Amino acid sequence: MVSIEPGTLYVVATPIGNLGDMTPRAVDTLRAVDLIAAEDTRHTAGLLRHFAVGTPLISLHEHNERQVVPRLIEQLTSGRSLALVSDAGTPLVSDPGYHLTRAAHSAGVRVSPIPGACAAVAALAVAGLASDRFLFVGFPPPKSGPRRSLFESLRKDGATLVFYEAPHRVLDSVQEMAAVFGESRLAVLARELTKTYETVHQAPLGELINFIAADADQRRGEVVLVVEGAPKTPAKGLDEEARRIASLLGDELSVKQAAALTAKITGAKKNAVYQYLTSELE
Ligand code: SAM
Repeated sequence: MVSIEPGTLYVVATPIGNLGDMTPRAVDTLRAVDLIAAEDTRHTAGLLRHFAVGTPLISLHEHNERQVVPRLIEQLTSGRSLALVSDAGTPLVSDPGYHLTRAAHSAGVRVSPIPGACAAVAALAVAGLASDRFLFVGFPPPKSGPRRSLFESLRKDGATLVFYEAPHRVLDSVQEMAAVFGESRLAVLARELTKTYETVHQAPLGELINFIAADADQRRGEVVLVVEGAPKTPAKGLDEEARRIASLLGDELSVKQAAALTAKITGAKKNAVYQYLTSELE
């Protein structure tokens, strides 16, 4: 049995598919606290039933978080213990809880983690890509324009990139990633992790497009996309000036336009500039 401290907010991870990933400490904590704040009380009620947890639930989602938080802080400061859960995985990772945890700190309330599953970390762990530095990006914008701008802003980032994506948008996103990051940048589709139809497929972005396009099942379920960071080594055959101009123009124009213009200005090969801009070399 865990010992529950009065007046403490426990941030509790729940499974991302496989109920076997619920930790004993999570179950004990949910049983022992006075109240559980849940993103979707009906969904969490099912989980609690499965683990024979009878603790009362209160709803806390992105639309009511600001209103509900003061009441929860009042409960905490008067000595009651509270657990925060989301529909799946770790709260606050593309899930509600930020306002509550922030308010808890401001009120001097102890905030304690009960760690467990998180789709981003699970995907990173099996992606076969560098994990010394990674950037969790979350969901890209659904519309193509803002999504492309986001990818452009990440094009030169050397960190491994971790995205969540809706299944019906995964093909569009991967196509746009290939256009911005280059077709040969490695990426991983991590789908339905811990569930029956788990898929972990690593391929260059250009090939990943075909893999997803050829099989409708790859556009179903829950998806994490992990993309290799930009390589550190400078492009072969491009002098420093050409790289400088290419980078400047690359910030203002499309990769294609920037490559053509840099080639005209510097006499460098258009292909080499293009590859440099899409961070493809070496
Ligand atoms: N808080 C959760 C966590 O810790 O992973 C994430 C919540 S976010 C609203 C839901 C997104 O997480 C899904 O759209 C998907 O991108 C990703 N996800 C959740 N479960 C997953 C799974 N079993 N396999 C792959 N991706 C998953």
